[in-house]
Order: sequence, then C-alpha cells, then structure tokens
Amino acid sequence: MSEKRNTWEGVIGLELHAQLRTRTKQFCRCEVRFTNAPEEANKFVCPICLGHPGVLPVLNRASVELSLRLASVAGSSISRRNIFARKNYFYPDLPKGFQISQYEVPLAEGGFLPYFFTSEPGGEAEVREARFVRMHLEEDTGKNYHLPDGTSIVDFNRCGVPLLEIVTQPDFHSADEAVAYLEEMRLTMIYLGVSDANMELGQMRCEPNVSVRPVGANELRPKTEIKNLNSFATLRKAVHYEIKRQIAVWESGGEVLPQTMRWDDAATGFDGRRGAAVAMRTKETADDYRYFDEPDLPPLVITDEMIERASGFADKTAFNVRARLIEKDGLSEYDAKNIATIPDNLRWYDALLPEIGDAKLTANWILGEISRWRAERGDKFLAEFKTAAQVILALKERRITNPQAKEIFGKVAVTGENPEQLITELANASDAATSDLDAILEEVIKENPAPAADYKKGKKAAVMALVGQVMKKTRGAANAQEAKKLLEEMLDE
Ligand SMILES: [Zn+2]
Repeated sequence: MSEKRNTWEGVIGLELHAQLRTRTKQFCRCEVRFTNAPEEANKFVCPICLGHPGVLPVLNRASVELSLRLASVAGSSISRRNIFARKNYFYPDLPKGFQISQYEVPLAEGGFLPYFFTSEPGGEAEVREARFVRMHLEEDTGKNYHLPDGTSIVDFNRCGVPLLEIVTQPDFHSADEAVAYLEEMRLTMIYLGVSDANMELGQMRCEPNVSVRPVGANELRPKTEIKNLNSFATLRKAVHYEIKRQIAVWESGGEVLPQTMRWDDAATGFDGRRGAAVAMRTKETADDYRYFDEPDLPPLVITDEMIERASGFADKTAFNVRARLIEKDGLSEYDAKNIATIPDNLRWYDALLPEIGDAKLTANWILGEISRWRAERGDKFLAEFKTAAQVILALKERRITNPQAKEIFGKVAVTGENPEQLITELANASDAATSDLDAILEEVIKENPAPAADYKKGKKAAVMALVGQVMKKTRGAANAQEAKKLLEEMLDE
C-alpha cells in the first residue's frame, strides 16, 4: 500500500478567512467583540448587521487599509476600483440572506508569501513560496449554539465582522507544507497588525481543497473542499484522510466527486477508523450564489495615498524578521526561529537589544530565564523591559556573575522591584570577595593538597575541584573561568 501511495501526490490549495483587527464591524458601527456564550448572544448588533429592510451599509475603511498591508508585502496587484457583490444563500446565521463580498474583481490578485519548510525532522529549513490567487474583503456570518436541552440559539454578534479571504494556488503537496505556510501567514498577520489570527477563537479559519494525481502529472483532478477547520491538528488529519481516501477511490476504478465536506472526529471513515471527512453537499458553483453587484455600496477606490500608507511593512513579516535575526544580528537559525515566531519573544528582543547591544546574550536570556519565568508566573510575571535590561547589562559588564544575575532576575520577576540596589550590593560584595583573588587561590591550593598534587601529576581535570572551592569561598562571586585560568598558571609554575 505504502509503495503504491508513492506513485500519487496530494495537490492542496488553501482558502483562509481572517478576521481583520478593526474596532468595528465591516458595514456598521457595532463593536467587534469575541463572545462565546449563549447568554452573551446578540449584544453587539444593530439593524444593519441584522439585515433589517431599508438600512444602508457603510464600508469600514480600516478593514481596507489593513488588507492592503498584506497585499503590499505579498507584492500583489491591487485593484484600484472595487465593486462589492452580493453572494446569495440561505442560512440561519445569515439574516440578510446574502453576504457582501467581492466577486469579479478582488481587492488584490497574485503575489506570494515566502515561508520556511523543513521536510525532514532536524533537517535544514528551505524557503518555499505560496502563490496567491486573490485576496478579497467580505463579512463574517453569525453563529449557532445548540444547547443540550434541544434548543438552538442564533447569535449575530459575529455577523458583519470584517473578513479577508486569501486564496492560494494549489502549491502544497502535503499537510505539513500547508501548515508551514499557515503558520507563516498567521505570524505575518499578527506582525502587520492585520489580524489577531487566533485559531482557537476562530479569528483564522482555513478550508483546504484537496485532490490527488499521479506523481509527475500536471493535470488537476476533481477536488474536494473541507470547510472551516479551526486548528492545524484538524487540518492535518483532514488532509491526510482526504489524500488517502481519494487515492483509494481512483485505484479502485472509481471517480472522486467534487464535494464540499466537513471533518467529523466521531464519524467512521472509508478505512474503518474513527475520524473522517464527510460529504455535506456537491460543491457549489458560482451560479448557485447568483452573485450580483451590491447596489447599496459605492465603488471602493484605492488611492495612491492608501497604497503609500500600506507599504513599508515588508521588514515586519515573520519571514523577514527571521532572516534579519540570522543575517544582521548573527543569531543561529534555532534562536532566530524561536525569537521570530513567538510574538512575545520578538517584542522582548526588539526592546532589549538596543539596550544590551549583544544579540546572542539577549536571545539567550529571552529563550532562557525570561521565557521560563514568564511561563511560571503568567499574569504575575512582573519584570519589565527596563528592569530585565538592567540585570542583563550588569552581567554583560561583569559587575555580577551569571548565577547572581539569574537570582536577581528571579526576584524581579516575582516582585517587580528595581534591581539596581540588588546589583550594587552584590557587585560590591563581589569586589570585596575577588579583590584579593590571588590570596584566596593560594589559600585553596594550600588547603587542598590532594587535587593540587593530582593536577601536577597530569590529571588536568583535578583543577575543577579547586575551582569549586574558590567559588565556595567567594560565595559564587568569583569568575569561574578566570579562577580556573589563574589556578592553572599558579600550579604550572
Ligand atoms: Zn451592527
């Protein structure tokens, strides 16, 4: 079976829906607020987003500006005159009976997003490109709650929240590739301020379309689309499943039908296992939606000023940040990835590096002590950029040792106090302890004749026992490297 599967490849394209990071909805002034409980239902609604007769939508310009940032960094061609369209369908969470979207001319076409992909665990990351078909603006639908007592509640809070739909070419051949792109896109949207892109909150949802073909063929066979996947884990399961299922269909002489599907963890699949993509309906065609121009909205004209404002974000994409950390700051690929792909880490890095001026030291602290204390303390993590920088600088300037810096930072993380006094006290104590380092070293050699003799006989490692004694006598204030060097000099004489 596995050998046979090697003769097929998956062909995957992605549709991604991102809620834009605006304060208000797409066509009304209702606040965009994430709610997820039946008792909060329908608190952020008005006649416009409820689709009452006679109301007029007014486009939220902020949604356009945010979308243009993404189009700009992708190098997409931006449509200067945009007509909105009505996409007609009936669904309980769509009170108007249509969704305002863009159809014939989208806001942007073409362009691409580079992303890193590691094909083998532990292997080197390669750069791939995800090419875009189009990006267009639309509005979100409401949400239904089905309660245990059998009642259902329709919640329109989400109705009319600005959405950007981003469609890629079928450029991916595995779920892993698709996820690598989506991760890059998620970070890019966060960094550009385009969307909070939190998948758990449904701020980013994706719909893969999947087909398979014999390896080496250029044809595109009928594809299925899997609706509204809310996590990378589900996306992986669904894509793996569909690829396997379609190969089985073709190999048994059948034909894959173009269908819209949904993932069901409880359903039994074609392979007899739990978890399956199940068909919802045959795939809609554009005709099913009876698109026509939205008569209530004037054309959206994109001006030079808008394009100008949206440009200049290229250095903020996660991809470019990572490249900058490697090329300009000299970080390892591993450190750069862990800084650039975790927005909190990047915030700390950008704030601390100018103060500390040592990229490697800054990255080590962020990925070490700072991350550790942040995870442990959560909301109660009280260190700030300024106080953290004070501690790390004192270490860099060798006013305190590494164990001392960690100890002080631990206090700052818990109490939020200013570390300067702690640093000064310890630095003074260190000075006192180490000002007479030579005397201490001689003392240690005298008090520990056995390791000293071992060292002289050629057991070079024995010096570490003496270093340990020096650290003990100075209560950690001595520099261990330096003490080791000086001890060796003394013993070699
Ligand atoms: Zn409203």
